[in-house]
Amino acid sequence: MSDNGEILCLSEAVKQINFLRRHIMRIYLDNAATTRMSRASVDAMLPYMDAVYGNPSSLHSAGQAAAEALSGARRRIADCIGALPKEIIFTSGGSEADNQAIISAARIGQKKGRKHIVSTAFEHHAVLHTLQKLEKEGFEITLLDVHENGIVWPKQVADAIREDTCLVTVMYANNEIGTIQPIKAIGEICREKGVIFHTDAVQAAGHLSINVKEQNIDMLSLSAHKFHGPKGIGVLYVKEGIPLTPLIEGGAQEWGRRAGTENIPAIVGMAAALEEACTHREDNAKRLCALRDKLIAGLSQIPHAILNGDAADRLPGNVNFCFEGIEGESLLLLLDDKGICASSGSACTSGSLDPSHVLLAIGRAHDIAHGSLRLTLSEENTEEQIVYTVEAVKEVVAYLRSFSPIWRDLVSGRREFMIK
Ligand SMILES: *Cc1c(COP(=O)(O)O)cnc(C)c1O
Repeated sequence: MSDNGEILCLSEAVKQINFLRRHIMRIYLDNAATTRMSRASVDAMLPYMDAVYGNPSSLHSAGQAAAEALSGARRRIADCIGALPKEIIFTSGGSEADNQAIISAARIGQKKGRKHIVSTAFEHHAVLHTLQKLEKEGFEITLLDVHENGIVWPKQVADAIREDTCLVTVMYANNEIGTIQPIKAIGEICREKGVIFHTDAVQAAGHLSINVKEQNIDMLSLSAHKFHGPKGIGVLYVKEGIPLTPLIEGGAQEWGRRAGTENIPAIVGMAAALEEACTHREDNAKRLCALRDKLIAGLSQIPHAILNGDAADRLPGNVNFCFEGIEGESLLLLLDDKGICASSGSACTSGSLDPSHVLLAIGRAHDIAHGSLRLTLSEENTEEQIVYTVEAVKEVVAYLRSFSPIWRDLVSGRREFMIK
């Protein structure tokens, strides 16, 4: 072989190694952004992309086979959350479910002259941006403080509700810092006061117990890709008797509440994923909490680092830290080089220079909020991966600080540490 050929071979080998490092030896710790589909979910979907391809609205047998799959999936999903099949509307995901829930409650309120909505400062943008749109229409929005631990108190909700309040929307668990909200108590208050209660349960599904009847929930949003189901499919649960405003007009699918031919493969895949997640929920949560706490303990050893959100009342797989004197984006890139997929916050804000609205809502200063790291676990993560990740983060944080002018000022005392 010529020299040239050998060099080519070598560069091919390096490419191969880099490929392996990036794609196979990867440690995926961004499960709040999206998850890998479970085998059960993929397997459930396949026949509906192939053998059973009818349109559920068609009267012939091919259509009826699809209609049966649709109603079966609807019933199984309803069972998982303590709802009736008729109370389950399929949407394109969590964002659409949030939009439709809020718009529908607003239209119901508007008819009665009630144009006040209560929510929190750290909701997902699918909620916040919909509320901003309504504000431009003349609705009044109260965003409740979530305190330094990232938890709203039921009493705040009770105090904020007025005669003209038409909706309370508070997420079940936060997507950035994982904190769990007292939704059952909030639902009870809303029920007493006759106000519709919606909760974005996208992060909670599969990790926390959901029973819409026991938890006094009128509307609830789910998204399959957050619990190992396919992307682009979600659920809006709506309590019987509450009329929905369609966001998509057209055919009579979903009892006229959401037009468009149903995405049968995705719906069936979502049902399989949700059932699987709910069946193993308690065991998974126990294992994830142990891994989470190990990761938190490891990262807490880094000087001038702080955990964001309550240490106990948080999702089993959520870890979120701020490190003083570094910049989150460089941290993510260097971790990626070490094979770790992490996030600085929500997938929606990454890429923009604004600090996370969630971290600002819990009172982190702008500079501190810029140095954030979110690691979100799944059932697939192992203890070895956690050990490796702790070491990698320690190394990268120390490396970034070694040439950070802010860090130099902090260490020399020219500037005061905000994280002790
Ligand atoms: C991911 C997410 C959404 C959006 O769901 P999509 O299915 O991606 O539209 C909404 N709310 C929360 C809390 C989320 O984490």
